[in-house]
Parts: sequence; C-alpha cells; structure tokens
Amino acid sequence: MTTAPTLSADAALPAGLVRSLLEHAVAGGAPAVEVSAPATGQRIAELPQSSVDDIDRAFATARAAQGEWAATPVRERVAVLRRFHDLVLAEQDAILDIVQTETGKSRAHAFDEVGDVAVNARYYASVAEKLLATRKPRGVLPVLTQVDVRHRPKGVVAVISPWNYPLALAASDALPALVAGNAVIARPDNQTALTALWAIDAAVRAGLPRGLWQAVLGRGREIGGEVIGRADYVDYTGSSATGRTIARQAGERLIGYSLELGGKNPLLVLADADVSRAAKVAVRACFSSAGQLCESMERIYVHDGVYDKFVGEFVANVRALKLGAALNYDSDMGSLTFQRQLDTVSSHVDDAVAKGATVLAGGRARPDLGPYFYEPTVLADVRPGMTVYREETFGPVVSVYRVASDDEAVAAANDTAYGLNASVWTKDAGRGREIAARINAGSVNVNEGFIAAWGSADAPSGGLGISGTGRRHGPEGLLKYIDTQTIAVQRVLPIAPLPGMSEQLWAKTMTLYFGVMKTLRQK
Ligand code: NAD
Repeated sequence: MTTAPTLSADAALPAGLVRSLLEHAVAGGAPAVEVSAPATGQRIAELPQSSVDDIDRAFATARAAQGEWAATPVRERVAVLRRFHDLVLAEQDAILDIVQTETGKSRAHAFDEVGDVAVNARYYASVAEKLLATRKPRGVLPVLTQVDVRHRPKGVVAVISPWNYPLALAASDALPALVAGNAVIARPDNQTALTALWAIDAAVRAGLPRGLWQAVLGRGREIGGEVIGRADYVDYTGSSATGRTIARQAGERLIGYSLELGGKNPLLVLADADVSRAAKVAVRACFSSAGQLCESMERIYVHDGVYDKFVGEFVANVRALKLGAALNYDSDMGSLTFQRQLDTVSSHVDDAVAKGATVLAGGRARPDLGPYFYEPTVLADVRPGMTVYREETFGPVVSVYRVASDDEAVAAANDTAYGLNASVWTKDAGRGREIAARINAGSVNVNEGFIAAWGSADAPSGGLGISGTGRRHGPEGLLKYIDTQTIAVQRVLPIAPLPGMSEQLWAKTMTLYFGVMKTLRQK
C-alpha cells in the first residue's frame, strides 16, 4: 500500500513522476513526512513512511522473489545490469533533475553519480560470471578428494544509504548484491528517497523481476533496527557514530555487515608537485557536492617551498567558483542539503575564527541564493583545540597547513582516527606511491583527489580505523554478498588407514606424503 503524495502547486517535481516512483516503496502504514528541495525550499512530496507491517511485507516479497532469481543463470542476471547501465546513461537528464532537486547539489556533481553507477554496472556485469563460478581447488588427497567451492547468495541484503550521493550509494552497492543472486531491501534517506526509487524503477524496466529490489521508507533510527532485524546482510553508508549502532545490531544477529563511514581526509602537496594542477584539482577534491562527500579533502598540508604559490592559486580558484543549483551545468557548487549541515558548517568555521583561524576564502552563509547555501571556505592558522582541526565537517570547509618536510606531512595526515581517503601531489610517481603507502587510508590518490581510486571499479574502496570495515567496488564488493559452500567428495579410498594397516603406519605414510607435497611446492 502506498499513500498518494500530496503536492503543493509549486512542487519541485511532477506529481505523476513522484506517484509512479513511490510504487516501488512498501510504505504508507506510518505517518508521512514532508520533503522539500534544499536549494529552493519547494515542496517535493509528503513521503509515505513504512510501518513494521510494511517492512514485514517488503521482506516477505523479497524472499519469495529471491529463490527464483538465485536459480536464474548468472548470464541473465548480468544482462539486466547491462540494460540498466544503458538506461541510466540514456535517461541521465531525468535522474540528474531528481538528484539535484533532492540534494541541492550542482549538476556536474550529480553527474559524478551517473558515472559511478554506469561504471559499477559495467564492471559487475563483466566480472560476475567469473566471480560466481564454482571453484575446484585441490583436495586433501589429489584425484581422490574432489572439491567444489560453490557460491550461495546471502538472501535478502539491506542497503541503508545516506542522502549525500543518493544514486551512487543506493545503486552501486545494490547492483553487485543483485547480480550475485540476492534480493535487496533499500532504506534510502527520506530526503533522497525518490532518487533510489528511480534506480529501482530503471532496474525493473531493465528486466529485474519486481519485488527483488524494493524500498522501505523511514528515519534510520526509527526503522533501521527493524530492517536489520530481518536482513541476511547489511550494507551501511553513513557516519561512524551510526556505524557502531549498525555493527551492534548486526552482531547481535550474527549477520555480516559492511560499513562505509566518515573521513577527515588529507591532501599533501609535496615540494616537487605540479602546483598549478594541484591547486585546480584540489578544488574539486574539497568542494564536490559542497564538501558533503565522504572522500572529500578537509585538510591540506603544503610544503613550505610551494606553500605561498599553492595557497595563492588555490584560494583564487575557490573564490572564482560560481554557486547555484539550477538544473543545468552553469554552476560550480550547489547548496548544502539540510539546516543541520548548515549549522555544523557555520559552527565549525565560527569556532575556528573565534580561536584565531584566518578565513582565506568564503566563511559565510549565502541565504540570498537559497536557505542552505554556504560559500566554499578555506581556513589558515587552524590549531588543535579548534573543532575543525579534528572533527569531520562534511561541508565546504578546508584548512591549509604549512609543513617543512614529507615526514611532517605524513605524520600530520595520520594524526586522525579516520582512514578513508588521501591525496598526494608530486611529479615523481614513484615517490608518490612511497608516501601513499605510509598514509593510513583505504585509498590514496596520487595527483588526483578521489576520482582516480573511487572510479576504478575493479579496485576495492573502503576505510581504515573508524572510517569503516568491509569494502565496496572490486571483487570484494560482490564477494561480501555471498557465502561459500565447500562440497568435498571422497572417491575410491577413504582418508583413513587401509584395511589391516596400523594407525602408526598410516601416520608414517601421511608424514612422508606431507613432506613430498612440501618438497614439490604443492598447495
Ligand atoms: P548519519 O549516520 O546520521 O545518517 C546516515 C544515514 O543513516 C541516514 O540516512 C540515517 O537515516 C541513517 N541512520 C541513522 N541512524 C540509523 C540507525 N540507527 N539505523 C539505520 N540507519 C540509520 O550520517 P549523516 O551525517 O546523515 O551522513 C553523513 C556521514 O556519512 C558522514 O560522516 C560521511 O562521511 C558519511 N558517509 C560515508 C560514505 C562512505 O562511503 N564512507 C559515503 C557517504 C557518507
């Protein structure tokens, strides 16, 4: 049951579109909530919410659909992903409008999400058959012991996703789960639910059987436990604080989980960097989606020798950014998504300034552009004791620090409990790799901010420390959604003394065998 959304005359999205997307949500049993467009304040919808009965129903439907899907040849499942890829690219204007309307981000930053989904759909379509094929490892006694390692989908996977990259984080984690033979129950953030529902709709139009990927709607702290309580695996993206709650709930049920959490990411400009290029790319690395990007840079450490040149050019580039969130490519950076984001950003900047930080660019809200706009902000003279020094802002605020050596830069980069992403700038790629390996982060980009590592879908992405556990992308991003089952068939002879053979002779024979296997360097 889905409650028809009520829309005001100045609705930000067409009522018919909203109504048809909501058909993929199992919701309506709990009171609706109003959702508005951050950039303009226009109403989007009265979003129906899911009751416990709705959640029960969603899981029952998903379980019923999953059995048949798991028995469908992988090749057919892969074909759905390929068609989904084409649909997302062909209909990008429609989904870009929805993403921008729900988040307030600029179109260029919304396009990053389209790219992410296309890359992941293509990647998992190309590797799924190989990753899911039955493996035949050597048995304990070669030839006599025949072993199959089969892959079994977990069942129903819960994908609990936040609002900042609503298409990428809802779809790119669901696709490998689906192609592996699972059903998915999405719990998108209310603010960006329609984006996730569009992805589900596109997948159904690409041939995904109905019921396999559905959404339940509600605030995480209200329905999160109910969703995790019914799932066979949970994939969560959000803050480290909530990650701990999810881990506790999943642990209680002994189900697997993957947590993609926060970051306080460092960018290092070494003495031999291409400074102008660094000063240009760093803008994207810091201010994509107005800094509401887990991978974005909030700390920049610059070698003394290039500090003045880098900071001069970087600040000039930041000041030149055009703010706006119109549904076209004319703006460079959009709005923040919520009042609470604006409050956090303002309080971090105000606290730093009150304690002696210098504002080199930005530093103020722009209510003239929309309720939650805030200028891209660069701070200097940031010191321990200022909130922004250590805490994730998750907004358009970056601090620049002068360092005297690579060692000082690496030590400062690692002075955090987070470990999500980092960036190193040098003209010497070998040196870049070496410095990268010393940084405690799940991904390090040399001469890039985040897209080089993030966009390489064959490489795993995820955090160290309190930035998370588990990985998305790469083989790891699919294998987490399956269990292995080892089937070993013993033929001809038992693994035991032959008739009439003593245990002692058996032990001697086996000892000889173990020695031979090692000498022959066998597995
Ligand atoms: P948050 O943890 O408050 O909320 C994130 C999502 O989790 C929301 O949709 C919320 O409804 C849901 N949620 C909250 N409590 C829940 C619960 N008990 N059970 C289930 N779901 C629950 O975080 P936020 O501040 O809204 O989001 C920003 C954070 O997410 C930042 O820390 C950011 O770095 C992180 N993030 C990480 C990644 C990544 O890939 N590592 C990506 C995007 C965002």
